[in-house]
Amino acid sequence: MRKNSLALKAVVVTLACSSFISMNAQEKYPEQMPMKPEMSEYWTPQPPIVTPGTSTSKAVLTAPSDAIILFDGKDLSQWVNDKGETAQWTVQNGVMTVDKSKGDILTKEKFGDFQLHIEWCVPEDIQGSSQGRGNSGIFLQDMYEIQVLDCYNNKTYVNGQTGSVYKQTPPLVNAMRKPGEWNVYDIIYTAPTFTKDGHYRTHPTVTLLQNGVLLQNNTIILGTTEYVGFPKTKPHGEGPIRLQSHGDPSKPISFRNIWIRKL
Ligand code: MG
Repeated sequence: MRKNSLALKAVVVTLACSSFISMNAQEKYPEQMPMKPEMSEYWTPQPPIVTPGTSTSKAVLTAPSDAIILFDGKDLSQWVNDKGETAQWTVQNGVMTVDKSKGDILTKEKFGDFQLHIEWCVPEDIQGSSQGRGNSGIFLQDMYEIQVLDCYNNKTYVNGQTGSVYKQTPPLVNAMRKPGEWNVYDIIYTAPTFTKDGHYRTHPTVTLLQNGVLLQNNTIILGTTEYVGFPKTKPHGEGPIRLQSHGDPSKPISFRNIWIRKL
């Protein structure tokens, strides 16, 4: 009997609780407005209009309207040598060709984040092997080398092959065209930031397409691209684009249609 009485009490308490809960659920709160498509659409600020470039026989993609032209085939007025003097590479038929006796060349202007377009070509009759075959390089902010090399039927260490972040990260694929044909690099670069005591707060990153094929996908650059030893951290601000005059004995390579967009 006592057991039954306890069970009855339990039922009563349960009913009371459930009725309390259901009374609460019936209370009225303001209802959320139903979502409409336009509630998650915004119209300003409108992105600036940029007229894209076109393909011509002299360039795979001409510069868009907001680009800084670094080389349009006429002269090296945007470039200097290591001493700050006018760059002395050969300019002929809309193309600049490395003069290995004159050393590297650098842009006069310095850059932070950017999108860089550059086309390059090794001679059709190029000779040599591994790193000694059309070697050059594009130094981002004068610090980090993206390798330029003829890797068409030419093997070398993978973190030094065409499109590598030199001695750090190999390219995802080899997208080389034959010697004598033009290769296109499109490089998207984000500059690093540094702590007060000279460490990376954020590392530089690079995305690279060669001939429209992805080689580096937002790759973290670990530090300087040293020929000997490991990457170093060297705090820096904006820097020029440097093109390498490499001492390998093969015939020199050429560049054309170089433009850059600040980001
Ligand atoms: Mg190189």
